[in-house]
Amino acid sequence: MQKPIIGVVSPCYNEELVINETANRLHNIITRLADNNIISQSSFIAFIDDGSKDATWLKITANATTLSNIKGLKLVSNVGAQNALLAGLLTFKDEADALISIDADLQDDINVLEEMILKFCEGTDVVYGVRKERDTDSFFKRNSALLFYGLMQRMKVNIIHNHADYRLCSSRVLNALAEFDEVNLFLRGIIPSIGFNNDVVYYNRQERFAGESKFSFSKMLSFAWNGITSFSNYPLRLVSIIGFAIFFLCLVMSGYAIFGLFLGHVVPGWLSTVLPMYFLGGVQLFCFGILGEYIGKIYLEVKKRPRYFIDKRVD
Ligand code: UDP
Ligand code: MG
Repeated sequence: MQKPIIGVVSPCYNEELVINETANRLHNIITRLADNNIISQSSFIAFIDDGSKDATWLKITANATTLSNIKGLKLVSNVGAQNALLAGLLTFKDEADALISIDADLQDDINVLEEMILKFCEGTDVVYGVRKERDTDSFFKRNSALLFYGLMQRMKVNIIHNHADYRLCSSRVLNALAEFDEVNLFLRGIIPSIGFNNDVVYYNRQERFAGESKFSFSKMLSFAWNGITSFSNYPLRLVSIIGFAIFFLCLVMSGYAIFGLFLGHVVPGWLSTVLPMYFLGGVQLFCFGILGEYIGKIYLEVKKRPRYFIDKRVD
């Protein structure tokens, strides 16, 4: 049987400190697997430069000239990790039998690459890398992630717990992915929803090799919010539920007030007038906000703007 061509795709944004190390380690693994006849000699590693402002692209091109199986793709501007990864997957999907996406900072343990590839050889279309524990993440990141995955599950979004973007996808999964042309692509939700047969491999998340995380608190928050609103209309339903509950409460309250009037009770002071006003005002604003989010999404989607532009490529 012919050995499969495997491509490793890694988005990088200002990663000049890690590229050399990552390129070397991935090169060694891929070369070893090819020499052991597990994968084809045409297997490769592709770095996607997501509009970096440092020497990332220079390092990528240098590695592409010295190491035979390294390729590079440079995007015109920074479009975010999800879109950069998508650019890589769509560009290289026809050049490999399966692509593995991995962070450039060596946080995803590359020692499970072989296990992923073996599962693919046995006929699995999607292999998810799942973190065993999150010891290396900060207390805050660990718990916010827990909350996020829990919330997604509650909202019936099909998402793999503790899986980031470290995964193998066969070319037929990637061809299916190419048919999704939403602008706000949330890969962690889309891939499970495509629904080919899948499996998981477990790994320990490492410390970042060098440099620092490109995700600030606000970026992380917007990523999570994006994931929720791209996949679920639950927040909209929540709005109706809250609205109904408050309406019901008001009915009870007015009943009580009328009753009180007949009994000759003194009508309570301004509190009962002012409090509901503020309360309802707040709830309404909150609901408008959620509605606005979805309308904003529709606005972005109907414009159908291109998700990335490719500047150049090295092989
Ligand atoms: N990344 C990217 N574009 C961005 C931000 C990040 O391509 O705008 C890449 C980054 O270089 C890394 C991966 O996405 O390879 C994950 O980013 P990071 O390590 O900063 O995230 P964290 O591991 O802290 O969640
Ligand atoms: Mg990282």
